[in-house]
Amino acid sequence: MIVSRQKPFTDILAALDGVSRVFVIGCAKCATVCKAGGEEQVWQMQERLTEAGREVTGSIVIDEACHLLRVQRDLRAKGEMVRSAEALLVLACGAGVQSVSAGTDKRTVAGLDTLFLGNIRRFGQFEQRCSLCGACRLNETAGICPVTLCPKGILNGPCGGMDEGRCEVNPNAECAWHQIFTRLQGQAEAGPLADTTPPADFSASSRPADLKLDT
Ligand code: SF4
Ligand code: SF4
Repeated sequence: MIVSRQKPFTDILAALDGVSRVFVIGCAKCATVCKAGGEEQVWQMQERLTEAGREVTGSIVIDEACHLLRVQRDLRAKGEMVRSAEALLVLACGAGVQSVSAGTDKRTVAGLDTLFLGNIRRFGQFEQRCSLCGACRLNETAGICPVTLCPKGILNGPCGGMDEGRCEVNPNAECAWHQIFTRLQGQAEAGPLADTTPPADFSASSRPADLKLDT
């Protein structure tokens, strides 16, 4: 899921400078799980904006804010509430914000900072395990991602700074390459480490990306 958190309210107010009428939009998926843009946060945001002297013309929590067509359809259904607003405040990830901005000329304000693709450890606690590099190496690294878990993103580790299995950059963590090697040894599959991994092909993660799935 996409992990995000709310911007400081002062930053949101600054982005709404000169705006008196605001429509608030949340997302029922990732932003809800992160407690950043679900029903509760949208409601709280309305109250805070009202206390700050802004008129909230209405609100909606869209099922998936990253769904371009659904967002446009749901906002059209809100009619005058959206039309009368001077700005749309979006409590969703960056993709969700752009689903909104793609269909309107109104000022579209991002209320969240989008942080990373995260795994859920428990409710309210997330870990980054994948950096969306576009050329997954997990088959060669025993299911442990060096691109993400090694602070240097080294593809041929460990680096010279590893100290008794601990990471040079973050001594509180086990070196990602130490984890990889230990697991491969346990699987009697240390073979891939005998080869040097060629330099990363950064074209695999070029932007903007586009993928169409044939169904
Ligand atoms: S190798 Fe790339 S795609 Fe695979 S988990 Fe790591 S960052 Fe994600
Ligand atoms: S000690 Fe290991 S995890 Fe830390 S930077 Fe070096 S190779 Fe990466």
